[in-house]
Amino acid sequence: MNILILGSGGREHSLAWAVMQNPKCDRLIVAPGNAGIAEIADCAALDIEDGGAVATFAEENAIDFVIIGPEAPLAAGVSDRLRAAGFLVFGPSGAASRLEASKAFTKQICDAAGAPTAAYGHFTDSAAARAYVQAQGAPIVIKADGLAAGKGVIIAQTINEALSAVDDMFSGAFGDAGAEVVIEEFMSGEEASFFVLCDGENVLPIGTAQDHKRVGEGDTGPNTGGMGAYSPAPVMSDDVIAATLEKIVKPTMAEMVRQGTPYQGVLFVGLMIEDGAPRLVEYNVRFGDPECQVLMMRLGAQVLDLLQACAEGRLAQAQVNWAADHALSVVLAANGYPGAYQKGSIIGGVDKVPEDSSHMIFHAGTGRQAGQFTAQGGRVLAVTARAGSLVEAQGKAYAMVDGIDWPEGFCRRDIGWRALPET
Ligand code: ATP
Repeated sequence: MNILILGSGGREHSLAWAVMQNPKCDRLIVAPGNAGIAEIADCAALDIEDGGAVATFAEENAIDFVIIGPEAPLAAGVSDRLRAAGFLVFGPSGAASRLEASKAFTKQICDAAGAPTAAYGHFTDSAAARAYVQAQGAPIVIKADGLAAGKGVIIAQTINEALSAVDDMFSGAFGDAGAEVVIEEFMSGEEASFFVLCDGENVLPIGTAQDHKRVGEGDTGPNTGGMGAYSPAPVMSDDVIAATLEKIVKPTMAEMVRQGTPYQGVLFVGLMIEDGAPRLVEYNVRFGDPECQVLMMRLGAQVLDLLQACAEGRLAQAQVNWAADHALSVVLAANGYPGAYQKGSIIGGVDKVPEDSSHMIFHAGTGRQAGQFTAQGGRVLAVTARAGSLVEAQGKAYAMVDGIDWPEGFCRRDIGWRALPET
């Protein structure tokens, strides 16, 4: 089978790594890929948000299966274009991708499906939004409706903070994403992520994870794309998983079918769990990064069979072979991230860290120069390890981190803290 993966992050590196291990994979191309991916697969320069260009490329390269990593090509309808051209595709349609691309759409689906989530109001003008804030009080959560790369959410502790967030959003600070605003009840509890494959009709859970959004240890400082993750998430007990499937995921999938936009792909279910009761925070229509890295490390080669069964509508017969293992990933980022950072520094030692089925350095923003890896982004590496216990996986991951020589980069040293007993 010839496979094309779209994307260039650590997520796509881990997908490529897992897919490649499956004997069914004859040839793997990742577009555009990155320097780490180029070590294990062919990379091709391609505008992955241009469905026509991707379809032509897939045709020229006799691709049998296209796996779409990031949300932007999904929201741009690249999967629709590819399916119309007859390709087997993993990833939801443009219409179904609104579960991530529009927060108001997701809230309306939750209402129709009866899925537990924060109470909310949806506004297109500032006066009504301000009145809602005054009526509800604080803390309260203000969200730009569209895709804002995780920056369009403000958790306001006071009414004044909430009102100025509303003013900012309607003033155009978030571009089109802020032309509509969702204002939500603040939910307390513990956050976790749940990943489910959906083939339009059937759902198959493929793992749980928790990430670390803040840049600083102890979950302090500004938000980032994610500084580390581990899987499984202890808060996702069997009962919480069952409740999430029955009350949130299945009713949402049924509502998507009812609206004529069945969902096919991975559904990333962001949850807030309080007293054993899950409520939906958000849906994403793709794997998380770095949650994908820990899931891929735990699932390995079977990922290709699972993604293919999902794309072919055969999930009812599919099953996951679980191992009683734990994976943990530590993100190395350029100094200054998530603010301004320098590009081009040399990352030493990466080639010397031994990699195998339980130890991998997944690359996000790297390049190659004179035989050495260079930093070309904010989040640069996801150092990932698997073991029989979380504490062991953590020890292995940090031992790998310590083998990397990159003074221009940093990482959090406390990835996994929430799930580990205090030492
Ligand atoms: P990302 O995809 O980067 O997580 P996003 O822009 O899609 O961000 P959300 O996931 O909706 O936005 O919110 C980002 C974060 O804000 C959540 O992970 C959660 O920590 C917090 N959050 C969002 N909504 C609420 C809420 N109603 N109550 C409490 N916390 C919330």
